[in-house]
Amino acid sequence: MRTAHPTRPPPRAQPGRPLLSVEGAQVGYGGAADVVRGVSLDVRLGEIVALVGANGAGKTTLLRALARRLPLRRGRLSFDGDDATSWATDRAVARGISLVPEGRHVFAPLTVRENLELGAWNHRHAPSMRESFDDLVRLFPRLGERMKQPAGTLSGGEQQMLAIARALMARPALLLLDEPSLGIAPKLAEQLFEAIVTIARAGVTVLLVEQNTRLALAASARAYVLRDGRIALEGPSARLADDPDFRRAYFGT
Ligand code: ATP
Repeated sequence: MRTAHPTRPPPRAQPGRPLLSVEGAQVGYGGAADVVRGVSLDVRLGEIVALVGANGAGKTTLLRALARRLPLRRGRLSFDGDDATSWATDRAVARGISLVPEGRHVFAPLTVRENLELGAWNHRHAPSMRESFDDLVRLFPRLGERMKQPAGTLSGGEQQMLAIARALMARPALLLLDEPSLGIAPKLAEQLFEAIVTIARAGVTVLLVEQNTRLALAASARAYVLRDGRIALEGPSARLADDPDFRRAYFGT
């Protein structure tokens, strides 16, 4: 699978060094209190990092701030060595930060093929678009079989695959995934996570928010547990999976 962008230079970060870092992030909505209350985390080049936590912990809010769709009230964000704290969304996108939001936002009346073509907006006429297309059909054969079908007629799991594939058509450096397994059949969720591992092996750094902690910890190298807007626990995923404190960090009980 080819992941380098045809015109954007590759990240300067070395493997294992931070691609994205956030320090002391506070994020909230309108006049209400902070939802994210002082979060610091790193995502290193080439890693899959999981962000897990109970409903309402602030995971989506944090992810949206990292994608520069919500402002940081306090704190500092850096991406590939540059201060990204005040970047507009389109700047983040241009640098290769791609968010797949919760709930599969595919263009329902358009075909699978048209949805994928829209994802390649930043290298539309380059041979690289065709290559991405072929790679993604190999990665998600179910999409390959449904190219002419309107996206709205796909199953939930297939729509999630399409949403991820469309994001990959833009050849991002960092993929932010919000609840990829939400509402899809367990077998399809397993396949989706296998694809996420393949995507990361091909060179795309991944931060994923996920309710299915078993899948998230199995796929990721490291994980952060968010509770009430703060990091309650962090560490290598293999260790957290067996950590007696994990449950308490997650549920607070
Ligand atoms: P879930 O797993 O349920 O999606 P989450 O950990 O992703 O939870 P968020 O979606 O970030 O949590 O929500 C955290 C808090 O922020 C909740 O109390 C929620 O009501 C509030 N919130 C989320 N979006 C908005 C919004 N657009 N306006 C105001 N408050 C919001």
